[in-house]
Amino acid sequence: MTASPPPLALSDTELAHLRRCVALAAQALDAGDEPFGSVLVGADGTVLAEDRNRIAGGDSTRHPEFELARWAAANMAPEARAAATVFTSGEHCAMCAAAHGWVGLGRIVYACSSAQLAGWLADLGVPPLPVSTLPINAVAPGVIVVGPVPEFEDAIHALHIRRHRPS
Ligand SMILES: [Zn+2]
Repeated sequence: MTASPPPLALSDTELAHLRRCVALAAQALDAGDEPFGSVLVGADGTVLAEDRNRIAGGDSTRHPEFELARWAAANMAPEARAAATVFTSGEHCAMCAAAHGWVGLGRIVYACSSAQLAGWLADLGVPPLPVSTLPINAVAPGVIVVGPVPEFEDAIHALHIRRHRPS
């Protein structure tokens, strides 16, 4: 059983959170990391935490969604976690979806899907990833997931082209 996706009607505030995720992804790329960024927003709309990919140091688990899940576990009551939303430039990988599910976080809004990313990486000749590309709900079936959001596709695709085909 998977949660059926709600209609894609994002508020201006939600779109602004996604734009921040894309900016964090660009920061990550500029720092030599992979272009991914994420923002954790509480039920009242407060931005609680944000992070970007930090794998260049050699630890390939340093994904922002994983960091935000652990931050939420350390800093938020279970009810607050369930009412929070994670915005992210790219759909959670299986590891991050599992972490999100284990700590009981709420909704996820992503700009681009794992399926889109897999297609882009294949087009760029990137070798297959070591972890299967699964939709979030294949890992965490109870999580409400919104995405992809088409207006971010070109900007995020461009970041991955820069990452894997530096000019
Ligand atoms: Zn991940």
